[in-house]
Amino acid sequence: MKNILVIGGHDPSGGAGIQADIEAIAANGCHAVTVISALTVQDTSNVFQMIPVKASILRRQLDVLLDDMPVAAVKIGLIGNAENARVIAQRLRMMPQIPVIVDPVLAAGGGSELATDALLQFYRNELLPLTTVFTPNLPEAQRLSEKIEVDSCAYALLDKGAKNVLITGGHEQAEAVVNRLYDISGKVEEWKWPILEGEFHGSGCTLASAIAAFVAQQIPLKLALRLAQAYTCDALDSARKLGKGQLIPLRIAGGGNGDVE
Ligand code: PLP
Repeated sequence: MKNILVIGGHDPSGGAGIQADIEAIAANGCHAVTVISALTVQDTSNVFQMIPVKASILRRQLDVLLDDMPVAAVKIGLIGNAENARVIAQRLRMMPQIPVIVDPVLAAGGGSELATDALLQFYRNELLPLTTVFTPNLPEAQRLSEKIEVDSCAYALLDKGAKNVLITGGHEQAEAVVNRLYDISGKVEEWKWPILEGEFHGSGCTLASAIAAFVAQQIPLKLALRLAQAYTCDALDSARKLGKGQLIPLRIAGGGNGDVE
């Protein structure tokens, strides 16, 4: 059983954040060890407040945990602020052999801002060079790269040092969601998935955590990405309306059995 270090925020609605990560990682055969970067006040519609954990506590928890438990991959979601990002980057530099999956969390589905300008700069200059797989959706890729067109966004993010960039979405082909993978050699793969009805809470977290689980099990990257997308698609397809807002993916019972053969 591989441990995956997850650094992210708590979403009390259970749709996104650490709970989504735990479910997606458990469903795909690994154990999540979870370091909370921020609390949030939120429901299934929006985030009303974000309360970053103190950077000194984040650092201490990372030190204690990583002293105790080996990890086979790291998954990073909501960071909270630039101070927390600095702590995370310092720690990642001490473990360069471990794959790092980063899902940038810049704004809530309901529109609330979750990243300051200082944090955006930190993503660009400090975190991207430490990232094995970066999984922005198109608006996040545009904001971080300051480019418009999807290929240009990807190349700008690769230029900053990310080893692989998976840009999700971009609804320019009305019949499908298109996810595109780029690495230093250019665009290496494109996957098309059905457009599902409704809005979902925690789709990005689900995908990035499933990628981390497959990568931790040393599945080759392209296959890991395909399996993680298929798992996420299933989880979204079975999502339930448990509150008044966005649907919550069904990540455990109906969302894949961890069988990667
Ligand atoms: N992590 C936390 C704690 C959040 O509150 C949110 C969204 O509000 C996210 C991550 C991102 O969610 P999604 O996967 O829907 O982009």
